[in-house]
Order: sequence, then C-alpha cells, then structure tokens
Amino acid sequence: MHGEGDAREAMPAGLRAGYERFRRERFPSESVRYEMLASGQAPTTMIVGCADSRVDPATIFSAAPGELFVVRNVANLVPPPDSTTGYHGTSAALEFAVSGLEVGDIVVLGHGLCGGVAASLQGAGGGGSYIGAWVALLDVMRAEVMADSGLESEAARQRALEFAAIMLSLENLRRFPFVAEREAAGTLRLHGAWFSIAEGALYWLDEVRGGFSPVA
Ligand SMILES: [Zn+2]
Repeated sequence: MHGEGDAREAMPAGLRAGYERFRRERFPSESVRYEMLASGQAPTTMIVGCADSRVDPATIFSAAPGELFVVRNVANLVPPPDSTTGYHGTSAALEFAVSGLEVGDIVVLGHGLCGGVAASLQGAGGGGSYIGAWVALLDVMRAEVMADSGLESEAARQRALEFAAIMLSLENLRRFPFVAEREAAGTLRLHGAWFSIAEGALYWLDEVRGGFSPVA
C-alpha cells in the first residue's frame, strides 16, 4: 500500500502546490457551498468549450463550483446526432445537461489561436489520427473558408474558421431533438461566443445580424 510519502513523490509538484493553496485559501471560504453541492448540482448554463489550457470557462465567467456545466474538447465542436455505436462523450454530456439538469442556456465558446482549427486548416481532416477524424467535422466549413478569396492571410482564414466552428456547433446542437424541442418551447437558449486570448476579451455572436462583437 502507498503511504503519504509515496503520494507526495508521485504527485507533480505544481499540482501539489496548487492543491495545497486550494485547501488553505479557497476551500475554507467555500466549504459551505461545497457542503450544499454535495446534495446535488443545479447549474443553469452549459458551456461547450475548447480543451485549450488558456481558455478556462470558469475563469472567464468568474464562476464558482456548481455554476457551469462544462464539456471541453478539441475546437469546441458539437458533433451531429449519431445513433451508431460510438464513444460519444460530448453528446452524452449534452444529453445530461439538457434532459437531466435542464440547463436554460448553452454557450459554444470558441477562441483565437485554436490549435484544433489550425489542424483542420492544415489539412488534418480525415482518418489516421484521432484529431484528424475529429476535426473532419469542420471539413465543409474549411472548404468554404479556403474558397473565400476575401480571406487573404492565414490569420484571416484561421479567424474565419474559428467563427465557423462555433456556427457549426450551434447548427449541430439544433439537430438533437431534445435541444430543438426546448429551444422552440423557449426553455433553452443557444449562444455563440469567441474569446480573444491576447486581449482577454469576449466576443458575443449575434445570430440575427450574423457577426461577433465585443462584450462591453
Ligand atoms: Zn482551441
């Protein structure tokens, strides 16, 4: 059996220091919240974000434990519904958030400098790797971006595909009947947002006008 000394050695130092700070500084002031949360969670918002370490939804929205139901994957993608056997992690989280927790809002949170989007642009789409097969979800959007003569630079194409990935996820969200029904009934709202890492600024999608603008 492992003793305390073993755990101390095995645990990465940075994680250990962070955990100690959590126990010392954060947990004491939030212990009541954690006690309440032990009886169940009732977040009202789901975030579909990117796995990128620089884009942490809880940090961006100053959210406390229990407030956001978050699923993160490469390039913040929602796949279309798929009834075939598979390990549909994002769809499972979506189903639980909507049908189980009955969240009122879903935010697809994209971001600048997205490596998953860059992989798609560089032609990673297709088989051969897990990333390639996953970002192939973007293939149609990618083809549109590549064909757009108005997008002259690599950076412009990257930004356009980051925005398009958010739109695609919203489109796919609406293909899940349990999402579409609730949106039609007015009990669920879908949103798109994009975070600029360099600026630390959030841009919100106006689906009617069709563009992202900075949140004042
Ligand atoms: Zn990303």
